[in-house]
Amino acid sequence: MSKIGVTLVGLGPMGQAMVRKLLGAGHAVTVWNRTASRADAVVAEGATRAADVADALAANGVVILSLTDYQAMYDILGTATDGLAGKVVVNLSSDTPARTREAAQWLAGHGAELLTGGVMVPAVLVGEEGAYVFYSGSREVFDRYEPMLRVIGRPDYVGDDYALAQLYYQAQLDIFLTSLSAYMHATALLNSVGVSAESFRPYAEDNFSMMSMYLPEAAKQIDAGEHPGDGASVVMMGATADHILGASEEAGIDTGLPKAVKAHYDRAIESGHGADSWTSLIERIRKP
Ligand code: NDP
Repeated sequence: MSKIGVTLVGLGPMGQAMVRKLLGAGHAVTVWNRTASRADAVVAEGATRAADVADALAANGVVILSLTDYQAMYDILGTATDGLAGKVVVNLSSDTPARTREAAQWLAGHGAELLTGGVMVPAVLVGEEGAYVFYSGSREVFDRYEPMLRVIGRPDYVGDDYALAQLYYQAQLDIFLTSLSAYMHATALLNSVGVSAESFRPYAEDNFSMMSMYLPEAAKQIDAGEHPGDGASVVMMGATADHILGASEEAGIDTGLPKAVKAHYDRAIESGHGADSWTSLIERIRKP
Protein backbone atom coordinates (compact mmCIF):
# COMPACT_ATOMS: atom_id res chain seq x y z
CA MET A 1 0.00 0.00 0.00
CA SER A 2 1.43 3.40 -0.89
CA LYS A 3 2.11 5.86 1.91
CA ILE A 4 -0.11 8.92 2.39
CA GLY A 5 0.95 12.26 0.96
CA VAL A 6 1.66 15.06 3.45
CA THR A 7 1.86 18.83 3.15
CA LEU A 8 4.41 20.56 5.35
CA VAL A 9 4.28 24.32 5.89
CA GLY A 10 7.16 26.06 7.67
CA LEU A 11 10.67 25.18 6.68
CA GLY A 12 12.78 26.32 9.60
CA PRO A 13 15.31 23.78 10.91
CA MET A 14 12.51 21.60 12.35
CA GLY A 15 10.30 21.64 9.27
CA GLN A 16 13.20 20.81 6.97
CA ALA A 17 14.28 17.90 9.20
CA MET A 18 10.71 16.54 9.15
CA VAL A 19 10.44 16.77 5.38
CA ARG A 20 13.68 14.81 4.99
CA LYS A 21 12.51 12.05 7.32
CA LEU A 22 9.09 11.84 5.63
CA LEU A 23 10.67 11.66 2.18
CA GLY A 24 13.09 9.03 3.46
CA ALA A 25 10.15 6.95 4.71
CA GLY A 26 8.49 7.06 1.29
CA HIS A 27 5.87 9.78 1.79
CA ALA A 28 5.20 12.25 -1.00
CA VAL A 29 5.68 15.68 0.63
CA THR A 30 4.38 19.01 -0.65
CA VAL A 31 6.01 22.03 0.94
CA TRP A 32 5.36 25.74 1.28
CA ASN A 33 7.29 28.41 3.15
CA ARG A 34 6.83 32.18 3.40
CA THR A 35 10.44 32.70 2.35
CA ALA A 36 10.36 30.55 -0.78
CA SER A 37 14.13 30.01 -1.00
CA ARG A 38 14.02 28.02 2.25
CA ALA A 39 12.25 25.26 0.30
CA ASP A 40 15.02 24.93 -2.31
CA ALA A 41 17.08 22.27 -0.54
CA VAL A 42 14.18 19.92 0.28
CA VAL A 43 12.68 20.38 -3.21
CA ALA A 44 16.05 19.31 -4.64
CA GLU A 45 15.78 16.22 -2.42
CA GLY A 46 12.35 15.24 -3.72
CA ALA A 47 9.67 17.42 -2.09
CA THR A 48 7.11 19.17 -4.30
CA ARG A 49 6.91 22.95 -4.06
CA ALA A 50 3.37 24.31 -3.76
CA ALA A 51 2.74 27.45 -5.79
CA ASP A 52 0.84 29.08 -2.93
CA VAL A 53 -0.96 28.27 0.32
CA ALA A 54 -4.16 27.18 -1.47
CA ASP A 55 -2.11 24.80 -3.60
CA ALA A 56 -0.37 23.44 -0.48
CA LEU A 57 -3.74 22.76 1.19
CA ALA A 58 -5.23 21.18 -1.92
CA ALA A 59 -2.34 18.74 -2.31
CA ASN A 60 -3.12 16.54 0.73
CA GLY A 61 -5.66 15.78 3.45
CA VAL A 62 -3.12 16.36 6.20
CA VAL A 63 -1.05 19.51 6.67
CA ILE A 64 1.78 19.72 9.19
CA LEU A 65 2.69 23.20 10.42
CA SER A 66 6.13 23.87 11.88
CA LEU A 67 6.05 27.59 12.62
CA THR A 68 7.34 30.01 15.24
CA ASP A 69 3.92 30.38 16.89
CA TYR A 70 0.18 30.13 16.27
CA GLN A 71 -0.05 33.69 14.89
CA ALA A 72 2.02 32.45 11.95
CA MET A 73 -0.70 29.82 11.33
CA TYR A 74 -3.35 32.57 11.01
CA ASP A 75 -1.04 34.65 8.80
CA ILE A 76 -0.61 31.69 6.46
CA LEU A 77 -3.89 29.74 6.51
CA GLY A 78 -5.93 32.93 6.82
CA THR A 79 -5.06 33.66 3.21
CA ALA A 80 -6.68 30.40 1.98
CA THR A 81 -9.52 29.51 4.36
CA ASP A 82 -11.65 28.14 1.49
CA GLY A 83 -9.20 25.25 1.22
CA LEU A 84 -9.46 24.19 4.87
CA ALA A 85 -12.69 22.17 4.83
CA GLY A 86 -12.05 18.48 5.53
CA LYS A 87 -8.34 18.97 6.30
CA VAL A 88 -6.42 17.80 9.34
CA VAL A 89 -3.95 20.43 10.51
CA VAL A 90 -1.16 19.03 12.68
CA ASN A 91 0.32 22.10 14.33
CA LEU A 92 3.75 21.38 15.81
CA SER A 93 4.38 25.03 16.69
CA SER A 94 4.80 26.21 20.26
CA ASP A 95 2.32 28.61 21.90
CA THR A 96 0.16 29.13 24.98
CA PRO A 97 -2.68 26.74 25.92
CA ALA A 98 -5.33 29.44 25.36
CA ARG A 99 -4.09 30.29 21.87
CA THR A 100 -3.98 26.59 21.06
CA ARG A 101 -7.61 26.03 22.08
CA GLU A 102 -8.67 29.15 20.14
CA ALA A 103 -6.93 27.79 17.06
CA ALA A 104 -8.91 24.54 17.31
CA GLN A 105 -12.13 26.57 17.28
CA TRP A 106 -10.96 28.74 14.40
CA LEU A 107 -10.06 25.69 12.33
CA ALA A 108 -13.31 23.92 13.23
CA GLY A 109 -15.15 27.04 12.04
CA HIS A 110 -13.56 26.45 8.64
CA GLY A 111 -14.32 22.72 8.68
CA ALA A 112 -10.80 21.57 9.62
CA GLU A 113 -9.62 19.49 12.56
CA LEU A 114 -6.60 20.43 14.69
CA LEU A 115 -4.13 17.98 16.14
CA THR A 116 -1.56 19.77 18.30
CA GLY A 117 1.94 18.56 18.92
CA GLY A 118 5.10 19.42 20.80
CA VAL A 119 8.35 18.02 19.43
CA MET A 120 10.75 17.13 22.22
CA VAL A 121 14.03 17.05 20.32
CA PRO A 122 16.15 19.53 18.34
CA ALA A 123 16.17 19.39 14.54
CA VAL A 124 19.20 17.08 14.30
CA LEU A 125 17.38 14.41 16.29
CA VAL A 126 14.01 14.55 14.49
CA GLY A 127 13.07 11.00 13.51
CA GLU A 128 16.06 9.55 15.34
CA GLU A 129 16.15 7.00 18.16
CA GLY A 130 14.76 8.56 21.33
CA ALA A 131 12.86 11.37 19.56
CA TYR A 132 9.29 11.78 20.75
CA VAL A 133 6.39 14.14 20.16
CA PHE A 134 3.39 14.89 22.41
CA TYR A 135 0.02 15.03 20.61
CA SER A 136 -3.43 16.06 21.76
CA GLY A 137 -6.82 16.50 20.12
CA SER A 138 -9.11 13.89 18.62
CA ARG A 139 -7.97 10.33 19.34
CA GLU A 140 -9.54 9.17 16.10
CA VAL A 141 -7.56 11.72 14.06
CA PHE A 142 -4.38 10.83 15.91
CA ASP A 143 -4.88 7.12 15.29
CA ARG A 144 -5.53 7.74 11.59
CA TYR A 145 -2.20 9.54 11.10
CA GLU A 146 -0.13 7.77 13.75
CA PRO A 147 1.94 5.65 11.29
CA MET A 148 2.98 8.78 9.35
CA LEU A 149 3.63 10.79 12.54
CA ARG A 150 5.84 7.98 13.86
CA VAL A 151 8.38 8.91 11.16
CA ILE A 152 9.28 12.17 12.93
CA GLY A 153 9.47 10.64 16.41
CA ARG A 154 7.61 8.32 18.76
CA PRO A 155 4.10 9.79 18.91
CA ASP A 156 2.77 10.06 22.47
CA TYR A 157 -0.96 10.87 22.58
CA VAL A 158 -1.73 12.67 25.86
CA GLY A 159 -5.45 13.47 25.65
CA ASP A 160 -8.27 15.20 23.84
CA ASP A 161 -7.76 18.72 25.26
CA TYR A 162 -5.97 20.52 22.41
CA ALA A 163 -3.73 22.36 24.90
CA LEU A 164 -2.38 19.23 26.59
CA ALA A 165 0.43 18.61 24.11
CA GLN A 166 1.55 22.24 24.58
CA LEU A 167 1.43 21.87 28.35
CA TYR A 168 3.49 18.66 28.32
CA TYR A 169 5.96 20.38 25.98
CA GLN A 170 6.17 23.44 28.22
CA ALA A 171 6.48 21.32 31.37
CA GLN A 172 9.46 19.55 29.81
CA LEU A 173 11.00 22.85 28.68
CA ASP A 174 10.32 24.28 32.16
CA ILE A 175 12.57 21.58 33.62
CA PHE A 176 15.09 21.95 30.79
CA LEU A 177 15.46 25.75 30.81
CA THR A 178 15.44 26.08 34.60
CA SER A 179 18.02 23.28 34.91
CA LEU A 180 20.27 24.93 32.33
CA SER A 181 20.08 28.23 34.22
CA ALA A 182 20.82 26.39 37.48
CA TYR A 183 23.81 24.70 35.88
CA MET A 184 25.15 28.02 34.60
CA HIS A 185 24.55 29.73 37.95
CA ALA A 186 26.41 26.93 39.77
CA THR A 187 29.25 27.17 37.26
CA ALA A 188 29.43 30.96 37.70
CA LEU A 189 29.65 30.47 41.46
CA LEU A 190 32.71 28.23 41.03
CA ASN A 191 34.13 30.47 38.28
CA SER A 192 34.14 33.28 40.86
CA VAL A 193 36.96 31.48 42.68
CA GLY A 194 38.78 30.42 39.52
CA VAL A 195 37.32 26.91 39.02
CA SER A 196 36.74 26.20 35.34
CA ALA A 197 33.52 24.82 33.85
CA GLU A 198 35.51 21.78 32.73
CA SER A 199 36.68 21.00 36.28
CA PHE A 200 33.11 21.17 37.54
CA ARG A 201 31.60 19.24 34.61
CA PRO A 202 31.93 15.64 35.95
CA TYR A 203 30.23 16.63 39.20
CA ALA A 204 27.45 18.48 37.39
CA GLU A 205 26.95 15.45 35.14
CA ASP A 206 26.71 13.24 38.18
CA ASN A 207 24.13 15.59 39.73
CA PHE A 208 21.97 15.64 36.57
CA SER A 209 21.95 11.86 36.33
CA MET A 210 21.20 11.38 40.07
CA MET A 211 18.26 13.80 39.90
CA SER A 212 15.85 11.34 38.31
CA MET A 213 16.40 8.95 41.21
CA TYR A 214 14.24 11.22 43.41
CA LEU A 215 11.26 11.33 41.08
CA PRO A 216 9.41 8.03 41.72
CA GLU A 217 9.04 8.75 45.45
CA ALA A 218 8.39 12.48 44.87
CA ALA A 219 5.63 11.80 42.32
CA LYS A 220 3.97 9.35 44.73
CA GLN A 221 4.03 11.91 47.56
CA ILE A 222 2.75 14.73 45.34
CA ASP A 223 -0.14 12.64 43.99
CA ALA A 224 -1.03 11.41 47.48
CA GLY A 225 -0.77 14.93 48.94
CA GLU A 226 1.38 13.49 51.72
CA HIS A 227 4.85 14.86 52.43
CA PRO A 228 6.56 12.99 55.27
CA GLY A 229 9.77 14.86 56.05
CA ASP A 230 11.83 11.94 57.34
CA GLY A 231 14.56 12.20 54.67
CA ALA A 232 15.06 15.81 53.65
CA SER A 233 12.90 18.37 55.43
CA VAL A 234 11.93 21.82 54.19
CA VAL A 235 13.87 23.43 57.07
CA MET A 236 17.08 21.56 56.21
CA MET A 237 16.78 22.21 52.46
CA GLY A 238 15.73 25.82 53.11
CA ALA A 239 18.91 26.43 55.15
CA THR A 240 20.93 25.22 52.17
CA ALA A 241 18.94 27.45 49.83
CA ASP A 242 19.81 30.36 52.13
CA HIS A 243 23.51 29.44 52.03
CA ILE A 244 23.47 29.30 48.22
CA LEU A 245 21.98 32.80 48.15
CA GLY A 246 24.64 34.00 50.63
CA ALA A 247 27.42 32.43 48.56
CA SER A 248 26.05 34.08 45.41
CA GLU A 249 25.92 37.49 47.08
CA GLU A 250 29.49 37.08 48.33
CA ALA A 251 30.60 36.07 44.83
CA GLY A 252 28.81 39.10 43.33
CA ILE A 253 26.96 36.95 40.80
CA ASP A 254 23.29 37.06 39.79
CA THR A 255 20.95 36.19 42.68
CA GLY A 256 17.61 35.96 40.86
CA LEU A 257 17.45 32.18 40.71
CA PRO A 258 18.62 31.40 44.29
CA LYS A 259 16.21 34.06 45.61
CA ALA A 260 13.32 32.40 43.77
CA VAL A 261 14.30 28.97 45.14
CA LYS A 262 14.74 30.29 48.68
CA ALA A 263 11.32 31.96 48.47
CA HIS A 264 9.67 28.55 47.95
CA TYR A 265 11.24 27.23 51.16
CA ASP A 266 10.52 30.42 53.13
CA ARG A 267 6.84 30.27 52.21
CA ALA A 268 6.60 26.60 53.18
CA ILE A 269 8.22 27.30 56.56
CA GLU A 270 6.03 30.39 57.16
CA SER A 271 2.91 28.32 56.51
CA GLY A 272 3.96 25.72 59.07
CA HIS A 273 5.35 23.03 56.77
CA GLY A 274 8.99 23.19 57.82
CA ALA A 275 9.02 19.59 59.02
CA ASP A 276 7.53 18.26 55.76
CA SER A 277 9.50 16.81 52.88
CA TRP A 278 10.68 19.20 50.14
CA THR A 279 7.84 17.81 47.97
CA SER A 280 5.41 19.93 50.03
CA LEU A 281 6.75 22.96 48.11
CA ILE A 282 4.30 21.93 45.40
CA GLU A 283 1.46 23.32 47.54
CA ARG A 284 3.14 26.75 47.69
CA ILE A 285 3.88 26.64 43.96
CA ARG A 286 0.28 25.68 43.10
CA LYS A 287 -1.09 28.52 45.23
CA PRO A 288 1.52 31.26 45.52
P1 NDP B 1 12.07 28.82 12.91
O1 NDP B 1 11.77 30.00 13.74
O2 NDP B 1 13.42 28.67 12.34
O3 NDP B 1 11.04 28.66 11.69
C1 NDP B 1 9.84 29.12 11.82
C2 NDP B 1 9.07 28.98 10.53
O4 NDP B 1 7.94 29.79 10.77
C3 NDP B 1 9.74 29.50 9.27
O5 NDP B 1 9.33 28.70 8.20
C4 NDP B 1 9.16 30.91 9.15
O6 NDP B 1 9.07 31.38 7.81
C5 NDP B 1 7.78 30.66 9.67
N1 NDP B 1 7.09 31.87 10.15
C6 NDP B 1 7.30 32.52 11.32
N2 NDP B 1 6.45 33.57 11.40
C7 NDP B 1 5.71 33.55 10.27
C8 NDP B 1 4.65 34.37 9.79
N3 NDP B 1 4.18 35.40 10.50
N4 NDP B 1 4.13 34.07 8.59
C9 NDP B 1 4.58 33.02 7.88
N5 NDP B 1 5.57 32.20 8.28
C10 NDP B 1 6.13 32.47 9.47
O7 NDP B 1 11.63 27.60 13.84
P2 NDP B 1 12.13 26.10 14.04
O8 NDP B 1 12.10 25.30 12.81
O9 NDP B 1 13.37 26.12 14.87
O10 NDP B 1 10.96 25.69 15.01
C11 NDP B 1 9.61 25.52 14.59
C12 NDP B 1 8.76 25.19 15.81
O11 NDP B 1 9.27 24.02 16.45
C13 NDP B 1 8.74 26.30 16.87
O12 NDP B 1 7.44 26.43 17.37
C14 NDP B 1 9.68 25.79 17.96
O13 NDP B 1 9.30 26.24 19.24
C15 NDP B 1 9.50 24.28 17.83
N6 NDP B 1 10.67 23.51 18.25
C16 NDP B 1 11.92 23.88 17.84
C17 NDP B 1 13.02 23.17 18.23
C18 NDP B 1 14.40 23.53 17.74
O14 NDP B 1 15.38 22.95 18.27
N7 NDP B 1 14.55 24.42 16.79
C19 NDP B 1 12.91 21.97 19.09
C20 NDP B 1 11.55 21.62 19.40
C21 NDP B 1 10.50 22.38 19.00
P3 NDP B 1 10.31 32.16 7.12
O15 NDP B 1 11.26 31.09 6.70
O16 NDP B 1 9.67 32.88 6.01
O17 NDP B 1 10.85 33.08 8.19
